[in-house]
Amino acid sequence: MGIYRIAVIKGDGIGPEVIDATMRVLEAVQDVSKGLELKPLYVEAGLECIPKYGTNLPEHSIKLLKESDACLKGPVTTPEEPGSPRSVAVTIRVMFDLYANVRPCKSLPNVPSFKPNIDLVIVRENTEDLYSGIEFELTPGVAVAMRVITWKACERIARFAFKLAMSRRKKLAYVHKGNIMKITDGIFKSAVLKVAQEFPEVEIWELRIDAATMQLVKRPEDFDVLVTTNMFGDILSDEAAQLVGGLGFVAGANIGENYGMFEPVHGSAPKYKGMNKVNPIATIMASKMMLEWLGSKYSDALCLEAAKKIEAGVFKVLKEGKIRTYDFGGDATTTGMAEAIARKIIEMG
Ligand code: NAD
Repeated sequence: MGIYRIAVIKGDGIGPEVIDATMRVLEAVQDVSKGLELKPLYVEAGLECIPKYGTNLPEHSIKLLKESDACLKGPVTTPEEPGSPRSVAVTIRVMFDLYANVRPCKSLPNVPSFKPNIDLVIVRENTEDLYSGIEFELTPGVAVAMRVITWKACERIARFAFKLAMSRRKKLAYVHKGNIMKITDGIFKSAVLKVAQEFPEVEIWELRIDAATMQLVKRPEDFDVLVTTNMFGDILSDEAAQLVGGLGFVAGANIGENYGMFEPVHGSAPKYKGMNKVNPIATIMASKMMLEWLGSKYSDALCLEAAKKIEAGVFKVLKEGKIRTYDFGGDATTTGMAEAIARKIIEMG
């Protein structure tokens, strides 16, 4: 192996800046990983496509995604008017059945963290829940949204999370609101408890969503793997990101049986567009997760090694503490941070 086609979506707002920064780092890691070749396939998607094609993800873009081995995606702005296109991220997650959204949040060197030893992973079901986007107005001023929850999706996300917990500290928190949504979250709870029987070594911790938001602040170091439904996972992962320094640091993998899409947790932050100011580390860490996934899928040691090199480059720059973007107290630029990480990777070889 060693040669991979990567669909690259630059996205909107700050997307092109954080993706360009990440491409610089990927260039450096290819320089020091002889035989590794990442061929970018640039994919049109996002706001600018809407007036041109009437959609934010045109057919030719979907074709390129299907021809690629994985997707590296910048954040995309989603219009909020009723009837406007669905979020690009949600469309790709559903189209490729990328059912597991995996968001690691870990305290980093020299980055203000709520507690010094946070190391948790949020596993969010990625294909259903209120993100079905099925809404209708019954009569003017009275609207209904459909929360779709299936046993099949709950069981497979639970199994994914338990397997992950087995490779870590063997603790799994499952989060729901079963006291209110007795049927939909009832299915989620039963599925988790059924799958738990296959993993007796994993200690489970049941939390309702309101208590989970509180416990995450009170004792974040006690969380290992946290599994939940789509919307709760979306909200909890922004909270967890802030515990370890903010949205500029946290990446997410969207994983299915045959395809993976990797992106920062943050959105397109339009107010910072074109300022060369935001932190590219979240997207750089997304590319590291992409290499890890490719490495495991194709048993490619070169890819796994390259992922380690990216992480080591990020950690070295953070440890030295000289290059810091505005979000953690510095005035380094997006390109400056990417260049520093790229140079470290090349130095370490
Ligand atoms: P956002 O994540 O874009 O920004 C919120 C705030 O977080 C920013 O104002 C900034 O202070 C901080 N921030 C975000 N990224 C940062 C970075 N890399 N470095 C430093 N600080 C950073 O959230 P929002 O303002 O609610 O959403 C803006 C748009 O992004 C919306 O259109 C939304 O739909 C979209 N969005 C897209 C995705 C995606 O593509 N997966 C995810 C979330 C939001």
